[in-house]
Amino acid sequence: MHTIADIRSWASEELRRARVDSPVLTADLLLGFLIGWDRVRILSHGEQQVSDETWDRLRRLVLRRANGEPLQYLTGEQEFFGLAFRVTPEVLIPRPETEILVEKALDLIRGNYPSSIRFADIGAGSGCIAVSIAHEVPSSSGFAVDVSASALQIARENAVRHGVAERILFVQSNLLDGFPQKPCLDFVLCNPPYIALNECDSLPPEVKNHEPHKALFGGESGLEIYRRLVPEVSPRLNAGGYLLLEVGAGQAQRVGELVVGAGLRLREALNDLQGIARCLVAQKTSREK
Ligand code: GLN
Repeated sequence: MHTIADIRSWASEELRRARVDSPVLTADLLLGFLIGWDRVRILSHGEQQVSDETWDRLRRLVLRRANGEPLQYLTGEQEFFGLAFRVTPEVLIPRPETEILVEKALDLIRGNYPSSIRFADIGAGSGCIAVSIAHEVPSSSGFAVDVSASALQIARENAVRHGVAERILFVQSNLLDGFPQKPCLDFVLCNPPYIALNECDSLPPEVKNHEPHKALFGGESGLEIYRRLVPEVSPRLNAGGYLLLEVGAGQAQRVGELVVGAGLRLREALNDLQGIARCLVAQKTSREK
């Protein structure tokens, strides 16, 4: 038998040696995940004994984390917009930057749409965008679209978990292929894979070795998905409807040109906390086709 204090110090030392960020916090999160305790309780019960089984399971998780597996895939969870999302290696781990897009969509919905709206989250992955919007706006309904059936399965689980599954339809489609070419959507939201293939080597190992490449890479230039998606959006947006796109560092200008080239009005570019343009907001005004 070991005490909480013993296994905490072993785990944080092991993680520190492997140069994992925030080793002590990571050790506590892994232990807390295994025994269902929060950090305060862990810190105040150092003398308590844990079973050999818990010790064994913790050891295995710590070694996997030390080997580069993201914490979120070990615990199966990531918080996004105040909600806990289940994540597996089939889906991208939701990032805080993507909350900018959700926040903006909510502002626009609340300011402009007194009744119901219909949205499509393209490349839904874990479903974090679609589920957050549906959760915040009870009068909304929409589509979570992904090419990957296993990603859609996770998105659906997250929708069920947060009580919004009856308002989201899960569609396996390559971008908007599965949608009729006529106005049917008020919001198209997308955080596409936008990393250029040649940047693969410079990504942290935990990203490049563990997150789904399909969810990360946007072809040679990183812009491939924008090039395909943007022209598909305008014919499917209702007049006054919006397209919100997350973009990678340095891509806003070129993606903005694609948006304008497709006949949409570029309304805004929103920066993240580091001052990088992260989210483009475009609108189909009533005169555009
Ligand atoms: N929509 C999901 C997210 O924002 C997945 C995005 C992706 O796979 N590129 O996290």
